[in-house]
Amino acid sequence: MKILVINAGSSSLKYQLIDMENEKVMAKGLCERIGIDGHLKHSPLVGGKPVFDEDISLPTHSEAIAAVIDKLTSPEYGVVTSMKEIDAVGHRVVHGGEKFACSVKIDDEVMAALEECTPFAPLHNPANITGINACKAVMGDVPMVAVFDTAFHQTMPGKAYMYAIPYEYYKNDGIRRYGFHGTSHRYVSSRCAELMGRPIEELKIISCHMGNGSSICAIDHGKCVDTSMGFTPLVGLPMGTRCGDLDAGVIQFIMNKYGMNIDEMLNILNKKSGVLGVSGVSSDFRDLEKAAEEGNERAALALEMFHYWSAKVVGSYIAAMNGVDAIIFTAGVGENGKETRAAVCEHFGYLGVELDEEANSKRGQDIMISTPESKVKVFVIPTNEELVIARDTKAIVG
Ligand code: ADP
Repeated sequence: MKILVINAGSSSLKYQLIDMENEKVMAKGLCERIGIDGHLKHSPLVGGKPVFDEDISLPTHSEAIAAVIDKLTSPEYGVVTSMKEIDAVGHRVVHGGEKFACSVKIDDEVMAALEECTPFAPLHNPANITGINACKAVMGDVPMVAVFDTAFHQTMPGKAYMYAIPYEYYKNDGIRRYGFHGTSHRYVSSRCAELMGRPIEELKIISCHMGNGSSICAIDHGKCVDTSMGFTPLVGLPMGTRCGDLDAGVIQFIMNKYGMNIDEMLNILNKKSGVLGVSGVSSDFRDLEKAAEEGNERAALALEMFHYWSAKVVGSYIAAMNGVDAIIFTAGVGENGKETRAAVCEHFGYLGVELDEEANSKRGQDIMISTPESKVKVFVIPTNEELVIARDTKAIVG
């Protein structure tokens, strides 16, 4: 079975074609600048075919999907001979609200429910829906599955997902913590249990997804019990450009003082805050580490804040679960930033967390970075959301 995994953004579309016989990626690529002009980078990973990397016209997502299918099946760049070899499509969908606690086969009813979830993710869900419709238009009745970023977090108890505001806002409007990066937290936690050789049902795991956007998740006996992102992906840790947790009073103060409207304010909180805002240097942790080494105090402060917040959240989840067996680091910063991992783990020496410095210096592989004696195990596990999407699609369609 061959599954096409699609992650559609507002002007981009990432894809992978995965052969489920061996779970190997046959080809992957990225359409960019959809609706502006258009660019496609397509990389075949089997058959020794060349990479295609050119500007092409992509007025809408339909042309993007058509271009992807064209490249996947072309004699020069292709990895399959015809579209018929693609058995199913798995779509990443950001927000499933309270309706979707697991992945589902897409039909008219699901499409209507996705539309209903759109107010919760006004930037992301419309792009995901457009991607699904474009696939339908180009690929006809190939079965399709939606895999939600929020679904894994639907097991959180009320005490973790409720905000302490009038209950009506939850009941009438669905205002609550939803959490994001669920597909990633699910993948790395189940991989961690595999690596530990123990059933996930007997483990307490804390997973730290640290990329441009970062979230931490408490996974008790295989189920998410808390996570740091909330109603939107803006909160929790300070991130590349997002502010993380913030006193709502600050918003009122700044808006009043500088005569800003809410869109201008949110633009600052989403795009100009986080470690970029504090440092004034960059949202990229490599730039920050370099600047801090060269004596830039604000870059050092931004890094310290990120480490401190991460440790505080991990600590609170140890309290929430009354213990922890394993801590996982994943995504760009989690997988590559050994200083970040060391700085976070330093806070848990009293629990018997002990890092193996040599293992902590390796990258690009599933690896235990704690010493054999460490009471709590620490892992780096490169995330693989596409594989989860493909596996779910296979399980539902297969
Ligand atoms: P996204 O959230 O967009 O998927 P990624 O998971 O790809 O992001 O993470 C991107 C971030 O990873 C970059 O902004 C950068 O800060 C960080 N990163 C990548 N490589 C390194 C490295 N070697 N050391 C520290 N941070 C790194």
